[in-house]
Amino acid sequence: MTEPGRAGSNPTWLDATAIRDGDHYVINGRKWFTSSAEGAAFAIVMAVTNAAAPIHQRASMFIVPAGTAGYSVVRNIKVMGEAGEDWASHAETLFEDCRVPASARIGEEGAGFSLAQERLGPGRIHHCMRWIGICSRALELMGRRALSRELAPGQALASQQTVQHWIADSYAEIEAARLLVLDAARSVELRGQRAARVKISAIKYFTAGVLQRVLDRAIQVHGAMGLTDETPLAYWFAHERGARIYDGADESHKNVVARDVLRSLQ
Ligand SMILES: Cc1cc2nc3c(=O)[nH]c(=O)nc-3n(C[C@H](O)[C@H](O)[C@H](O)COP(=O)(O)OP(=O)(O)OC[C@H]3O[C@@H](n4cnc5c(N)ncnc54)[C@H](O)[C@@H]3O)c2cc1C
Repeated sequence: MTEPGRAGSNPTWLDATAIRDGDHYVINGRKWFTSSAEGAAFAIVMAVTNAAAPIHQRASMFIVPAGTAGYSVVRNIKVMGEAGEDWASHAETLFEDCRVPASARIGEEGAGFSLAQERLGPGRIHHCMRWIGICSRALELMGRRALSRELAPGQALASQQTVQHWIADSYAEIEAARLLVLDAARSVELRGQRAARVKISAIKYFTAGVLQRVLDRAIQVHGAMGLTDETPLAYWFAHERGARIYDGADESHKNVVARDVLRSLQ
C-alpha cells in the first residue's frame, strides 16, 4: 500500500493505478516499505481501479507473481542502518506497465480497502503478541542483570530503588498490555473485527509504547553492555522502533480511540 509520494498514514491517497485492458489490468506505480518482497514468490499490490468511485472503493488488490514483466524490486531500504535480507527486509518496488490477468485481482473491484482492514486487524493483534513476548524476555534480562551486577562488593544493582521501580513499572505495564490484547482478541472472536476496531487501535499504540519503555529501561540497567550485541536488547530497540509507525502510527490510532470516546459522550 505505502508509496514514497503520498499514500502512508492516509492509504486512500494512492498514486498507483491498475487500468483494465480487456482480460488484463495494467499496473503502474512505485511502492516502498514492501516488507519481505525480497525472495517472495509474489507481491500483493493495492492500486486505484476507479478514481471516480467513493474514496474507500477506489482501489483493488492484485497478486503479482515475481518475474512478471514490469514488476521489479528496486532495492532493500536500510532501516535503522540495516538493509535486511529475505523476509526481514523492506523494499522499494516498481510497477511499470505491469500486465496481470483479471483473475489476479483479489476479491471484487474496489474492495481493496475493506480487504486491507480485514488483514490489518488480526495483524495488529499478532504484532502486540510478539511485542509482549519481547517485553517479557527484556524484563527477565533486566532482572537477571540487576541481580548479578554489583556496584560495589555485596551491593547488587537490584538493591537500588530506581532499578526496582523500573522492574515494577515494566511488570505492571506488560501485564496491562497482555490483558488489553486478550480482551481485544476476545472481542474479535465474539463480535467480529469491525466491532473490535477501537480496542485494536488502543492495543496497537499502548503495547508499542510499553515495548519502547521496557526496552529502554532494560538497556539502561545493562549500561554500555545494553548497547552491544552481547544481548538482543539493542537489536530489538532499533528494530522495533518502527512499532510506533507501521500498521498505523500512534497518532492515527489515538485519533480513532479519542473520536470513539468523544462520540460516546455526545
Ligand atoms: C518496518 C516497516 C515495515 C513496513 N512494512 C510495510 C508493508 O509491508 N506494506 C506497506 O504498505 N507499508 C509498510 N510500512 C509502511 C507503514 O505502513 C507506514 O510507514 C505508515 O502507514 C505511516 O506512513 P508514513 O511512513 O508515510 O508516515 P506519514 O503518513 O508521512 O506520517 C508521518 C507522521 O505523521 C503523524 N501523523 C500521521 N497521521 C496523523 C494524524 N492523523 N494525526 C496526527 N498525526 C499524524 C505520525 O506521527 C506519523 O508518524 C512499513 C513501515 C515500517 C517502518
